[in-house]
Amino acid sequence: MAELMLYNTLTRRKERLEPLARHPETGMPLVRMYVCGPTVYDYAHIGNARPVIVFDVLFRLLRHLYGEDNVVYARNITDVDDKINERAARDCPDLPLNEAIRKVTEGTNAQFQADVKALGCLEPTDQPRATDHIDGMRALIERLIERGFAYVAENHVLFSPAAMDAAKDSTKGRLPRYGALANRSLDEMIAGARVDVAPYKRDATDFVLWKPSKPNEPGWDSPASIPVPGRPGWHIECSAMSMAKLLEPFGGGLACDDPLKNTFDVHGGGIDLVFPHHENEIAQSCCAFGSERMASIWMHNGFLQVEGQKMSKSLGNFRTIREVLDDWPGEVARFTMLRSHYRQPIDWTDSSLRESQAILDGWYRKVDEVEATTPDPAVLSALSDDLNTPSAFALLHQIADPAVLKATAQLLGLLGQSKAERLSGAGASVDEATVQALITARLAARAAKNWAESDRIRDELVALGIVLMDGKDEAGNPVTRWEVKR
Ligand code: AMP
Ligand code: ZN
Repeated sequence: MAELMLYNTLTRRKERLEPLARHPETGMPLVRMYVCGPTVYDYAHIGNARPVIVFDVLFRLLRHLYGEDNVVYARNITDVDDKINERAARDCPDLPLNEAIRKVTEGTNAQFQADVKALGCLEPTDQPRATDHIDGMRALIERLIERGFAYVAENHVLFSPAAMDAAKDSTKGRLPRYGALANRSLDEMIAGARVDVAPYKRDATDFVLWKPSKPNEPGWDSPASIPVPGRPGWHIECSAMSMAKLLEPFGGGLACDDPLKNTFDVHGGGIDLVFPHHENEIAQSCCAFGSERMASIWMHNGFLQVEGQKMSKSLGNFRTIREVLDDWPGEVARFTMLRSHYRQPIDWTDSSLRESQAILDGWYRKVDEVEATTPDPAVLSALSDDLNTPSAFALLHQIADPAVLKATAQLLGLLGQSKAERLSGAGASVDEATVQALITARLAARAAKNWAESDRIRDELVALGIVLMDGKDEAGNPVTRWEVKR
């Protein structure tokens, strides 16, 4: 088994991935990965596509290294959030709020799924929705209150990092230090906290696990006998969904007192999520389970900016995935994303998209007529060194065998389209069979020296956006290759 080294934000160095669990039936090593997914209130932007693509490459690599059945990848859908409530009230003022929310979240989620599919991303093993895991959130919150890490105040439940700090190395388990992921100390955070702290918080650094819902907001039965309906804070969602999808099916969860069973392998997301989101996920999960780590390896992608500037609506450079896909094939966008290393910032420019298109076109010309074989070992080594995609692409340029080139690119989710798919992507309205039939007719015309008919067919194909290249095969017989003109 090749070694897979991944940079761990928690320890600030590359570490070897060592799967903690085994497949319950086959006993094979099993990798469990969780990635924070979208909050479904609006079209996803091209920055949101970065973690989806980066962790899709990791998912594909893990499946290649460990076997398809031995990787469990959960990416959540956040469908409870104040922004969703606001959007629902604004866009569907005539509907009851719950219906309006469903309309907003279902529509946005369907769009997101279509967008990331077009970017060549496989579906994760599981896509849990927050609203299906409220019970798990309540159970975690009850446990945190019971163990003294959380308290009720004015119908809220708050998590106390100070209580976590005080309990470190106690009988409650070997807990991590609050702030270890973000590399900050609690004192620094207290000093840096804003002055307008909510009055019900004991300490400025306390964060919300549960809050009361107003009568016009979505609400569920609250934990800890709080007499009014409420809704979860953002961070607790991911602790509950990773528990449900990556721990409970493998013997972990709140009923299990073996801390090691309550750690999974990889947790990912954008660099902006390190603090507070991931720090708080760790605090919640580790304190609830008495475990030292929520996940062994924490991975974060760098940020994407557009033409050298932060992407924002006010600068007019805000691009949704949908808009990018209107102008470029999904593979061109995917390739552009992966030409930078995932931990580096990336500058999203039209010129890099154009370059990507030219490179992909060149590769397609080489591989169109061949069957993929097996991926190139040197490229696998580059990917196994903390997903070094830039170095993988440099190696791809050197692969002489088109069948290996195709297999290697396909491992990265590229060069997977047939000519017919590229045709429809380029806006042409012919299918591959039609093109082949016309080419056969033209070859027959040429064999009969009917040059007028041969030219007529070529012009017909040109009108359809197809260019022909005449040549000879190894036996010296005329053959015609074709490609889509852009
Ligand atoms: P959000 O819906 O804002 O929670 O973001 C969903 C995911 O996209 C998270 O993993 C974010 O870290 C990531 N993300 C948001 N904006 C960018 C960006 N400009 N570049 C890279 N990743 C981003
Ligand atoms: Zn999360």
